[in-house]
Amino acid sequence: MVLTAKRMYVNGEWTESRSNETFNVLNPANSEKLYSVPRGKAEDIHEAVKAARTAFESEQWQTFKPHERGRILFEVAQAIRNEKEKMAELETLDTGKPIGQARSDVEAAARYFEYYAGVADKILGETIPVEPGILDYTVREPVGVTAHVIPWNYPIQISSRSTAAAIATGNAVVLKPAEDTPATALKLAEIFEKTALPKGIFNVVTGYGYEAGAALSNHPDVNHITFTGSVETGITVMTMAAKNVTPVTLELGGKSPNIVFADCNEEEAVKWVVRSIIQNAGQTCSAGARLLVESSIHEKFVAKVVDKMESLVIGPGMTDPDIGPILSEKQFNRVNEFVQLAKEEGARVLTGGEKEHIAGAKEGYYFQPTVIDHVDPDSKIAQEEIFGPVLTVFPFTTEEEALNLANGTEYGLVTGIWTRDIGRAHRLAGKIRAGQIFINNYGAGGGIQMPFGGYKKSGFGREKGLEALKNYTQVKNVAVNINV
Ligand code: NAP
Ligand code: MG
Repeated sequence: MVLTAKRMYVNGEWTESRSNETFNVLNPANSEKLYSVPRGKAEDIHEAVKAARTAFESEQWQTFKPHERGRILFEVAQAIRNEKEKMAELETLDTGKPIGQARSDVEAAARYFEYYAGVADKILGETIPVEPGILDYTVREPVGVTAHVIPWNYPIQISSRSTAAAIATGNAVVLKPAEDTPATALKLAEIFEKTALPKGIFNVVTGYGYEAGAALSNHPDVNHITFTGSVETGITVMTMAAKNVTPVTLELGGKSPNIVFADCNEEEAVKWVVRSIIQNAGQTCSAGARLLVESSIHEKFVAKVVDKMESLVIGPGMTDPDIGPILSEKQFNRVNEFVQLAKEEGARVLTGGEKEHIAGAKEGYYFQPTVIDHVDPDSKIAQEEIFGPVLTVFPFTTEEEALNLANGTEYGLVTGIWTRDIGRAHRLAGKIRAGQIFINNYGAGGGIQMPFGGYKKSGFGREKGLEALKNYTQVKNVAVNINV
């Protein structure tokens, strides 16, 4: 299916870029052009930020009741559900992911709007005892204009989770989708357009990261930036924001381990170890990229993982396989280079490790699900985010060794612990330097309500759950002398 050209959404209008330039978005399943979008640059970002500022300060928005904001977000949730199939299709065409996973992503997006809709009129302050005669209270105010720089791996989920929280708390939003996957963010704009949300509160500017993304991160009139993507770009965004003293929330991926002990429920552990690395072809910030396995079950456990990996179906996302294509040639080459390097360094590829050729999809970039054992824990493949369906295996003999391996990268996003020993599970949960720990599960319930974010280079700040509200509000303290 070839879609038509799209426009971007600024101040409640569908517009071209000022320069009138566009760029093409390709289908990862076969590298064919899907549609084109405006190439927004600094002047377009400036227009959007200006529109957001004006809308934020307008009488209309300032007198909007919190429950009215909530009601609009509920409508958005419902509209997303009504258009679930269409949105899932757009997401699969853009990202390449299996349509079943895209449907789950769209449902998660609806859940974010529903969740933060309910919160809009429950953002409470405190009264603080200071001394007799002083009434002291806090209010949580919106920060103003919030910027959202979105990656290509979970476009609709990540666009929804931060903009829903930002609008629930009364901010005005400028969103920059990834250049490869703008369709569902634009669809979200179409949905907002049909609601009573004032013009200028939700804006989408399409464009390249180094142009539109950089202009947004650099803009002096932005009050908060939420960024999800690579460590390298995160550092660039934070450096630009620092010049304006603009706070940032950074979610920068990981190298997350599943720690499997001999006393685990093996069937469950195998299922989730595989699922957590092949979801979205491994292009997931919280992917279970490392398997740390107790030596006594190393061989038999890994054999079961390999068996399962070899039973997976690879193919175009629209056929709903287990694994779709990698996003682009660039990302494919990155994954491939990691794996070839591991081979040269003497690691053992137990299964996969090559391009998968799919009939009728000559130009798609499919990578076989891969398991690599005998990996040096200090090597590049053990330390860096690969962002492909590539699992690296490390045996351990003691709990301490497992802990050191788990904490032994610069990342700290998620950890799975598989054991029936409750004491050990909690001991480890306390010592592992990661933002989310899952014991005998991985990614429970999609995690809408759970604070999510990193330790170390996985970033800082928390998205999801009530914690995210802190990103989009600032606290004002008011002290009143009641005796005057
Ligand atoms: P990236 O550069 O970090 O892209 C993330 C977002 O930042 C995109 O919207 C991108 O726009 C934008 N961007 C790029 N350069 C920018 C700049 N100078 N200023 C402001 N915004 C900018 O990620 P990538 O290059 O697409 O992927 C590379 C690697 O990053 C992946 O292999 C993976 O390891 C990691 N990654 C992690 C996550 C995650 O969920 N944590 C998500 C994506 C990628 P464009 O799309 O136009 O470049
Ligand atoms: Mg990029």
